[in-house]
Amino acid sequence: MEKCTIIVPCYNEEEALPLFYEETEKTVSTMTELEFEYLFVDDGSRDRTLEVMRELASKDEKVHYVSFSRNFGKEAAMFAGLSEATGDYVVIMDADLQDPPELLPEMYRAVKEEGYDCAATRRIDRKGEPIIRSAFARAFYRIMNKMAKLNMMDGARDYRFMKRVMVDAILSMKEYHRFSKGIFGWVGFQTKWIDFENRERVAGKTKWSFFSLFRYSLEGMVAFSTAPLEWASFVGLFFCFVALVLLIFLFIRALIFGDPVIGWPSLACMITFFAGLQLFVSGIIGMYLAKAYNEIKGRPIYIIREKK
Ligand code: UDP
Ligand code: MG
Repeated sequence: MEKCTIIVPCYNEEEALPLFYEETEKTVSTMTELEFEYLFVDDGSRDRTLEVMRELASKDEKVHYVSFSRNFGKEAAMFAGLSEATGDYVVIMDADLQDPPELLPEMYRAVKEEGYDCAATRRIDRKGEPIIRSAFARAFYRIMNKMAKLNMMDGARDYRFMKRVMVDAILSMKEYHRFSKGIFGWVGFQTKWIDFENRERVAGKTKWSFFSLFRYSLEGMVAFSTAPLEWASFVGLFFCFVALVLLIFLFIRALIFGDPVIGWPSLACMITFFAGLQLFVSGIIGMYLAKAYNEIKGRPIYIIREKK
């Protein structure tokens, strides 16, 4: 019988995890054509999440877990899950039941019978989310799709049902700065999109602040596009041209009208403007440099402390 591994990244999910297990079991127990295995990834939780995992594992032999030495972030947790998973199929799900387990049979059918390599999900609304966050998220997807020439779906979740070939392709991308939404798109394969309505998390609270999401989106842009570097040189070139035109204008004016000393305020403005612009552009270059520096160090993406 074919096996399916359900990967669940967990960070401080002591309340949500038992509910997740109970709810998912309801669906999983009906899918008798597959052998299931849970792989909980404890991302350095500071509450009782690991104990909950141990308890579940002692009661149910389908349950496995790995526990990190500290918090490495959801991207690292997903990568660890994919690396440790042994199934012919792999599913990634959040622990807070925002990814409805009832979709699993439909996802399995898409992969097994309809010839897709992967079934992915997206939420068609952003109910229960702050308005500004939704607006920024939309803008991010629009910019990102243009810039990186990737097809990233707005509202796409990390909740996916994948064949082994796709999992192996993802594992072959060993970058340290991981941006899964981009990686899933980059590896290609036939993906079926399944829509569902947004749900609120069952227990606990979200780990994302507006600021952390903003940083994450910058991370995504740097990881999947070098367009900002090209813009930087275009902006530089453009201003060289402006300066040249200005120079010719001033030269001719001085020939015709002599050289009255005017224009100091505008000069001061221009100096501050260009100083700012230069710092901004070196900042962009610095961002790429920093990422390259981290990649070159080749540090592990996660460190496991305990495993079962
Ligand atoms: N998560 C994680 N490590 C982190 C932050 C989050 O493994 O550093 C997990 C978390 O436990 C949950 C999933 O990633 O299972 C999604 O997190 P959350 O629900 O906070 O994000 P949201 O759904 O609000 O985008
Ligand atoms: Mg959530």
